[in-house]
Amino acid sequence: MKKIAISTLLIVTMLVGILTGCTSNTTTPTNAANNNKNATDVLIIGGGGAGLTAAITAAENGAKVILVEKMPAVGGNTIISATGITASDTQLHKDAAVPFTVEDHIKKTMETSKNLADEKLVRILVENSNSAYEWLLTLGLKYKLDPKDPAWIIPEEGHYGALLVKALQAKVATLSDKIDLRLDTKATEFVVESGKVVGAKVTGKDGKEQVITAKSVILATGGLNNAPDMIAEFNPKYKGVNTEMTTPGPTGDGIRMAQKIGAQLKDMEYFQMRPLALNGYWYKEVIVNQEGTGGILVNTDAKRFANETMSSWDLASEILKQKERMAYIIFDTDVYNTPDGKKAVDKAKGVKADTIEDLAKQLGLDPAALKATVDEYNAKNDAFGRKTMGKVTTAPFYGVKTLPSSHYTMGGVAINENAQVLDKDGKVIEGLYAAGEVVGGLYGAGRVAGNNTLDDIVFGKIAAKHATGK
Ligand code: ADP
Repeated sequence: MKKIAISTLLIVTMLVGILTGCTSNTTTPTNAANNNKNATDVLIIGGGGAGLTAAITAAENGAKVILVEKMPAVGGNTIISATGITASDTQLHKDAAVPFTVEDHIKKTMETSKNLADEKLVRILVENSNSAYEWLLTLGLKYKLDPKDPAWIIPEEGHYGALLVKALQAKVATLSDKIDLRLDTKATEFVVESGKVVGAKVTGKDGKEQVITAKSVILATGGLNNAPDMIAEFNPKYKGVNTEMTTPGPTGDGIRMAQKIGAQLKDMEYFQMRPLALNGYWYKEVIVNQEGTGGILVNTDAKRFANETMSSWDLASEILKQKERMAYIIFDTDVYNTPDGKKAVDKAKGVKADTIEDLAKQLGLDPAALKATVDEYNAKNDAFGRKTMGKVTTAPFYGVKTLPSSHYTMGGVAINENAQVLDKDGKVIEGLYAAGEVVGGLYGAGRVAGNNTLDDIVFGKIAAKHATGK
């Protein structure tokens, strides 16, 4: 999996950047002309990748749209997506004669899900990936194949998520006669009449509750990455997880709203975690890399507890099982002398010492225990099945704290092929659609990086098309 390296500061900076020039057009001509400014064709809840895509599609189909976003800016967690979009059989693949077929893409997605994903939904996702990619080109975005993996399509330059949100936002602005974008407006509850969702209660910045009525509602509120208590409720294994690796918006509101009206939830126990260093970065590639030349991870007993070269998601789970749900990365000067080594120490307030014992003292670990752990590792005694062993021998030595953080919510509301939300009996809840990270069923126990913005686009479009009868 490609790493996402982004600090909270960077997230905030990007949000502010995106916010610049972004105005809430609550008094668009459409609404001024409308007797009831709170009645619309399509109400979209959440202004991340899925909500923005749905808004554009519905407006292009001639529908009047109200999009409510609870934060002062659009973008959600989509804005911090760093991998790129995963798409198969695109012109880029053909031009480069590098095959990544629809079947390759489906296989990769199913295998990563540990075969728990709904293959029917995965097929829809993947078969629409080329058209999703081509749609992004129409927004003026420019891409190339990621030289590391032909599954990933990345911007020619710049940050993937920030550019994507900017382009979607610009497109929304061109449709302002149809799209009424209301920032700082939080949906709290669906309004249901005779079993059909006909709108939602929302609260604006002034704290006043209003009801927005709509022919259809599209739920696009993202995941639970910033709701640690909810994460622990769905999977106690993740109790105490950190949330540095997320934006403020995804707090599971949509899941709660859907639960209240009897929607079916799927795969809620599965989350992707990142084993991050203190400042929200993950330095795995260099410190504990796949080739094994990096350092080791130890718990507060100064003991190793896992094969450090396992997938970063699994490693994060292993760290969360340790006391205080954290660990230290221990490495030597040879690792420090790599770009990520220096960065880890500088940015994540790592410590440095001439001996392992002194390093232990600075980290509050038992010196003899850490020395014994390092000696054992250097002697290539490994109880955890690490195939490629590095070494921790060249002084000075370094230690960096890691705190796993929630990164992606795999589960969510169950949908059918039209992105209609299903109830516990598998029946359609009339009037309600869902798209993006709030949806469950696409990823089972694991997600291929880059499939997430793909699903925002594919299911955002499908939801909007069906909601507008196209
Ligand atoms: P996705 O990739 O599925 O679009 P994101 O995390 O990018 O998910 O976007 C979800 C958006 O939904 C965020 O901007 C978040 O602030 C917004 N949101 C979450 N809950 C609510 C709510 N109750 N009302 C309005 N917006 C919400």
